[in-house]
Amino acid sequence: MFATSVRRAFSTGSQQTVGFLGIGNMGQSMCKNLIANGFKVQGYDIMEGARDSAAASGVNVVGSVAEAAANADFVVSCLPATAHVQEAMTMKGGVFASARPGTIILDTSTILPGGSLEMGEAARAAGMTFIDTPMSGGVLGARAGTLSFMCGGDAAHVEAGTPVLKGMGKNVFHCGIAGQGLVAKLTNNLILGINMIAVAEALAMGEKMGGDPKVLSDIIAVSTGRCFSVDTYSPIPGYKEGTPACNDYNGGFMVKLITKDMGLAISAAKEGGAISTETQRAFDIYSHMMELGYGDKDFSYVY
Ligand code: NAD
Repeated sequence: MFATSVRRAFSTGSQQTVGFLGIGNMGQSMCKNLIANGFKVQGYDIMEGARDSAAASGVNVVGSVAEAAANADFVVSCLPATAHVQEAMTMKGGVFASARPGTIILDTSTILPGGSLEMGEAARAAGMTFIDTPMSGGVLGARAGTLSFMCGGDAAHVEAGTPVLKGMGKNVFHCGIAGQGLVAKLTNNLILGINMIAVAEALAMGEKMGGDPKVLSDIIAVSTGRCFSVDTYSPIPGYKEGTPACNDYNGGFMVKLITKDMGLAISAAKEGGAISTETQRAFDIYSHMMELGYGDKDFSYVY
């Protein structure tokens, strides 16, 4: 059902080179779509397994961050958390030391807005541009090339990066100044993380009361409880084709990543003076799953 890569009808950057860092669950499909849309991709991941799997699916895999960044027109990072992005950008042989001056770095990772701002400053000092372009749509959206990107930074930089983002997704939103892309992303994921738990609790209750979770989902999908976790990214095995639930809850959005995002949303709420009671509860539930050893499972495993 899901295309392995998605070619756009429009013409993109005619063999512009993208250095891609982090060829994991999201990154591999994003690289494949960039290639299908005419970009030359030089991808790197610190994990051998990720490099092998990306190479087997047609990505040109290189041997270091420096090789990925060298002579690239754009660098796209798709890394787990703030510390990984900081390391890849600022280490000896990292992006800031290896890319050409003028390179635009599009960071699609979900990280601390403050950490992103610091890297924006460091990039400027190195003669480069670093903007926050976090994404939404999950592994299904990455495969189908329908991701939404939420960008923070100067309009001219967002515009310059848009052909690359459109080579991996469908919607590009300019949310405001640097960091505002991440604010939008955390707002979205706060809802997603709580929603998946609500869907899990609801379907478990229905099932234990004799209902069929697939029938209940068909009904909820056209009723007022409808949401992404019901009609697209269902936690029920064998209900929605291509979901991690159909793959023993592997290969999706890992529990450790939603836990990180809930934590980031709580920090942002504290910083901004907003209430985060339900986010805290969701954080505690996902943290407990991690304690039980389910950190690498897809977050729909909460069901
Ligand atoms: P992932 O763990 O599958 O992939 C990240 C990859 O980065 C890993 O393969 C890891 O080895 C690699 N990596 C770590 N440090 C590196 C470095 N210094 N250089 C090169 N590679 C390095 O995670 P993912 O699910 O692909 O998510 C990536 C980012 O996108 C995260 O910030 C996540 O929160 C965000 N995100 C994920 C989803 C999703 O559904 N999976 C959706 C939206 C956003």
